[in-house]
Amino acid sequence: MKNKEILLVPGPTPVVDEIYEALASETRGHTDPRFVAIYKRAIENTKKLFNTDGEVFVVAGSGTLAMEMAIVNTVAEGERLLVISHGYFGDRFISLSKAFGIEVDILQAEWGKRVDVAFVKEKLSTGAYKAVTITHADTSTGVSSDLEALIPIIKEAGALAIVDGVVATAALQEDMSKAYGGNEDYKIDIVLTGSQKAIGIPPGLAIIAFSQQAIAAREALGTVRAYYADIENWRPVMDNPASYFATPPVNLIYAYDKALDIVLTEGMERREQRHISYGRAVRTALRTYGLMPLADEMAAAPTLSCILYPEGVDDTKFRSSLAARGVIVAGSLAHLAGKAFRIGHMGNTKEEQLAEAITAIGEVLGEQGIKVDIQEAVKIFNNTIARESKAAL
Ligand SMILES: *Cc1c(COP(=O)(O)O)cnc(C)c1O
Repeated sequence: MKNKEILLVPGPTPVVDEIYEALASETRGHTDPRFVAIYKRAIENTKKLFNTDGEVFVVAGSGTLAMEMAIVNTVAEGERLLVISHGYFGDRFISLSKAFGIEVDILQAEWGKRVDVAFVKEKLSTGAYKAVTITHADTSTGVSSDLEALIPIIKEAGALAIVDGVVATAALQEDMSKAYGGNEDYKIDIVLTGSQKAIGIPPGLAIIAFSQQAIAAREALGTVRAYYADIENWRPVMDNPASYFATPPVNLIYAYDKALDIVLTEGMERREQRHISYGRAVRTALRTYGLMPLADEMAAAPTLSCILYPEGVDDTKFRSSLAARGVIVAGSLAHLAGKAFRIGHMGNTKEEQLAEAITAIGEVLGEQGIKVDIQEAVKIFNNTIARESKAAL
């Protein structure tokens, strides 16, 4: 199956042929040894992806289920959670936690900016938080979080560090064995993600990794207010994928196994570098059209950008004209709806696809009366990537 359109919404992302082929493999029973071997390998490779000696869970669901699994397995009713939010998806932890009777506090940045680390430190000093959530990259604003600064202060405060990697995992490094600030006690406790963003397979998998400390936190809770989302029901399956709790999405697991092979073959260091350079190149090229990213460049996510429209550009017309050219981008959320669009540059998206998108965006802006130099923009796009990849050598 060939992709007919360039899907640059911030998830789902373009699915490459090898993954479609894996997806179309014959569906087998979930206890068939041939499937079990693939599931087992996917689970082992998920541990490699996060470099964890903890436990991972790969189940049918979406990123939101993984968010729920993170919270419900670590924080009990009445306990306190701190949410560091850089937009819509950070905020999602608030309503999620309230649904479980958790006492939630929030530090919200102005859209496009990062929460000041000093505020986080101050907030953590005011009370015993069981856990803190960080959205590694927020899909509404294109703002990424500074894990280097945040993980040490969260761990120093004795809280669990929960990282929402839904638009970061498999693009940005999330190394759960890394000792942040050089301290062996300062490590990420949970990373959660979904299948359809930088991993590059269709929607439908919730993926989450727990450190030993996070597993201990689950055990200390005794019972939790969940059934499908209770990791205790899944631990035996992840340990022995021939056992049953609820039917795994067999074909998606084939696809995920293939995707992990692609990711681990490229290597996370190179993959992160590639994403950083794609992000810079897209934003630099778009600036030549007068399109400004919402996020400060220092805080800009390598995986997607939220781009403000210049005066006079109509959102609906812009996106439908682009779609007519086979390039699909997303609108914006909340108060930015109609004022900005979002473009993904992650996963297995190719440089040529992004260059095509830069061209198409230039054409559509031209139609709306904006003066653009498409050749120049594409040249800047290509040069930025060339310079970045040379710098990475
Ligand atoms: C997409 C996204 C989610 C939600 O994932 P779903 O698969 O839509 O449930 C959560 N967090 C972030 C950062 C996301 O980008």
